[in-house]
Amino acid sequence: MIGCSRCDRRAVIFQRHSNRHLCKRHFIEDFERRIKLAVRKFKMIEKNDRIAIALSGGKDSVTLTYTLAKLYEKRRDLELFAITIDEGISNYRPPTVEIARKVAEQLGIEHVVVSFEENFGMTLDEMVKRGDKKPCTYCGVFRKYLLNRTAREMGATKLATGHNLDDETQTILLNFLNADMERMARLVPQRVQEGLIMRIKPFRYIYEKEVVVYGLLHNLPMDFEECPYSYFPVRASVRDFLYEFENKYPGRKFSVMNSFEKLIPCLREMYPQIDLNRCERCGEPTPKKVCQACKLLEELG
Ligand code: SF4
Ligand SMILES: [Zn+2]
Ligand SMILES: [Zn+2]
Repeated sequence: MIGCSRCDRRAVIFQRHSNRHLCKRHFIEDFERRIKLAVRKFKMIEKNDRIAIALSGGKDSVTLTYTLAKLYEKRRDLELFAITIDEGISNYRPPTVEIARKVAEQLGIEHVVVSFEENFGMTLDEMVKRGDKKPCTYCGVFRKYLLNRTAREMGATKLATGHNLDDETQTILLNFLNADMERMARLVPQRVQEGLIMRIKPFRYIYEKEVVVYGLLHNLPMDFEECPYSYFPVRASVRDFLYEFENKYPGRKFSVMNSFEKLIPCLREMYPQIDLNRCERCGEPTPKKVCQACKLLEELG
């Protein structure tokens, strides 16, 4: 038996970045400490917040919903609710929508399911057949649109997503490799913009592997199915590179995140907040005259 580095119990995980074996209790303590650290550092949760959680039903969002409920249920000034977007991806999305329903019900959290079909008159599968754009383009634009609109209409002050340290460091590195600093600036936490609900990422200091272990230790449903449209060859290379690098030199994902956070003041200066317009067609916030969702809908006829 491998023992915990902090007590006599059996270890459930080896944290390469801290070079420690941790038992269930000490791992959970450390996991939740880093969430609270991120929340405090970026003022993700403030007094009287009403937080919408983007709950897809995948492992990250399920664990996020559970953790936020556990850590903040005693705060009477806070409210949590969950939004699930059903894009309409046959065979892939229906089981995760069911997981989301069950998780929200078990945690006693208000939950709404919003579908592409009801709001745009067609599922993602149909969009892909009709249009010439990549599935993820339609999916990303319409999902963000519905999440933001639903969160705002339901009175949310923040929108929490399950992006973890692995997701974030991949995106940071990708933006560097593409020399896309404008996109990088969009990763800056708490970039408040008119009409947009502020996004928060409480898992920004949590490795993906830790999300899985935490979920399994709490018997949460862990869905590992991959979307049939998932095709990100460049991101996959960056992911593999970071994985190997982290394996050889543990803790480097934290270094990437640290470097990014040191750049935040520069990014804020280089790309200051812009005043958003209201889309001429749907009224949603957009930097242009017509929002991206309305443009795509026009193309799709
Ligand atoms: S991989 Fe699937 S779920 Fe993810 S953005 Fe693309 S189409 Fe949407
Ligand atoms: Zn221990
Ligand atoms: Zn619009």
